[in-house]
Amino acid sequence: MIQDIKGLHHVTAMAADAQTNSDFFTKTLGLRRVKKTVNFDAPDIYHLYYGDAAGTPGSVMTYFPFPNMFPGRRGVGEVGETDFAVPEGSLGYWRGRLEGLGVAGLADDTSFGAARLRFNGPDGDAFALVESGHEDRAAWTGGAVPDDVAIRGFHGVRLMLRDPAATAELLTFMGYENQGTSGDVARFKIPGGNGADTVDLVANPSAAAADQGAGSVHHVAFAVEDRAAQIAVRKALADTGYQVTPVIDRDYFWAIYFRTPGGVLFEVATNEPGFDRDEDPAHLGEALKLPAQHAHLRETLERRLQPIVD
Ligand code: ZN
Repeated sequence: MIQDIKGLHHVTAMAADAQTNSDFFTKTLGLRRVKKTVNFDAPDIYHLYYGDAAGTPGSVMTYFPFPNMFPGRRGVGEVGETDFAVPEGSLGYWRGRLEGLGVAGLADDTSFGAARLRFNGPDGDAFALVESGHEDRAAWTGGAVPDDVAIRGFHGVRLMLRDPAATAELLTFMGYENQGTSGDVARFKIPGGNGADTVDLVANPSAAAADQGAGSVHHVAFAVEDRAAQIAVRKALADTGYQVTPVIDRDYFWAIYFRTPGGVLFEVATNEPGFDRDEDPAHLGEALKLPAQHAHLRETLERRLQPIVD
């Protein structure tokens, strides 16, 4: 069994407009944009990262905004909902705030004894704010939301699956413990994790496969401390029969990817080196940062990429 997974590292989704996306995560949700770079595999598309002050693993929501991308169609084989942790008693504030800002899809529910507020992102992205019991993670305080109610990072993700059995087995292999069920949701939690420690599995045997587009999650990344732990995890997964990519340098972390039996793309990413490797921590996310292999494209990219006004 793998013992090096610490919880989530980041969740990466797709959007139709960079400006709308940046405004929603910074101005509506009060996260910090911690990096403005490009998709390393398609550099004419932005890669935008939002999180806490430092972009701590377990707090980082990232987006590829493809201009005018068609909306995705919800279904099985994807992350069906991304959940953020907020302090106990803060959902009243959030309901008023999100209602006032015209956010769609607001709905209250309770799951595993915790109050939740579901809402949609600008592209129909499915999110929930979850009141997490004890929470020692610090929020980004330079944003639009008061510290005592601000998002602390991820609570977890909900995977929509036709048959969750094989994914449940994989999560157990990755070190997650089955915490039982609430309604039709099975909960898996990593002991001693980074706070973003929950993965919920929702079974929907009759649903069609998801058709990914704007508002869809592209992949979910799990955190390991360093490159040595990543190599150990890669070997354990490969020995179990998973087709895992080689280690890929993403500048702010190293990444490996593998497709899971339920269809969701998983990544395992290192906590090192972090988002301050090429920027002053006081100015994270302000300037367009390019990886070395695309540095020669700067002039073209600065002309082509839609400027983002903060
Ligand atoms: Zn990723």
